[in-house]
Amino acid sequence: MELLKGKPVADVIKEKTARLAEELMEKDIVPTLGILRIGENGSDIAYENSAVKIASSVGVHVEKYIMSEKSETEDVLDVIKVMNEDDNIHGILMFRPLPAHLDEELIRNHINTAKDVDGISDASVGGLFTGNMTGFPPCTAEAAMMIMEHYGIELSGKRAVVIGRSLVIGKPAAMMMMDRNATVTICHSRTKPEDLKEICRTSDIIVSAAGKCRTVGAEHVSGNQVIIDVGINFDEGGKMCGDADFDALEGKVSAITPAPGGVGSVTTALLMYHVARAAASAETAPETVSK
Ligand code: NAP
Repeated sequence: MELLKGKPVADVIKEKTARLAEELMEKDIVPTLGILRIGENGSDIAYENSAVKIASSVGVHVEKYIMSEKSETEDVLDVIKVMNEDDNIHGILMFRPLPAHLDEELIRNHINTAKDVDGISDASVGGLFTGNMTGFPPCTAEAAMMIMEHYGIELSGKRAVVIGRSLVIGKPAAMMMMDRNATVTICHSRTKPEDLKEICRTSDIIVSAAGKCRTVGAEHVSGNQVIIDVGINFDEGGKMCGDADFDALEGKVSAITPAPGGVGSVTTALLMYHVARAAASAETAPETVSK
């Protein structure tokens, strides 16, 4: 069983980003990520700290915009306007979900598509779905694709299943795999458990983004599957885990990403690459590393 670790993939992306950042510095452009955090959510702060660390290792500067969780929608829109209009900010990362009283749909759609480095606006999602290359794809879905590309996992003509249909992971991952000529099935919480098992067992590739420990177990595989585990969850004992029951699957699949240590590490590296790309090209359509 091959362990599809994220680090080697992230290292390649980081190297590419650092090279691009260096080229930009020679032109006095400092690729800069604006992070917008509303409130003091622990996991947002943890992600922010790791993003800052990775950014500095690849020559990307970070500017933080921290707002009170009591901020109103209008206040957040004002800050996004400032970030959109600041030529020194090339990418915007906004932590979600936002506090419930805020109009998240309105807010995310105010982010300038050219700076929407995590692909959360409708324009970015539309660009991915139509293939018109407007904006950037969501980093996590792209990270799943990058792992498969790095490890030479062929998608063309293969049967793939995506577990989860969120706009940030499930749907874009399915679309990207279909673009690579896989035959894709999407499962979700209303998929009957027996159907989920059957679909997984007859698929070559399982991408799981359900957000629940042990969504994929030994009963979901038949021996040769590749499992890309996107989930970042915590079990009953507070231990971090993916969606896949790693222990139960060990030796029963052909390849699997560890969690942690798989998709997550690639996601942040890709975010920085998107920032450098956005800085390099404000006018031309941004490219993705996975194409
Ligand atoms: P989400 O918005 O909650 O979506 C979860 C999806 O999974 C939904 O479509 C849901 O179906 C489906 N689902 C839930 N339980 C299921 C089950 N038992 N069987 C089949 N489908 C089920 O979550 P998300 O934002 O997409 O995130 C998914 C996971 O990825 C989370 O663990 C999150 O922490 C992780 N994540 C990882 C990274 C990374 O870099 N690795 C980045 C971001 C998020 P319905 O649509 O019917 O509700």
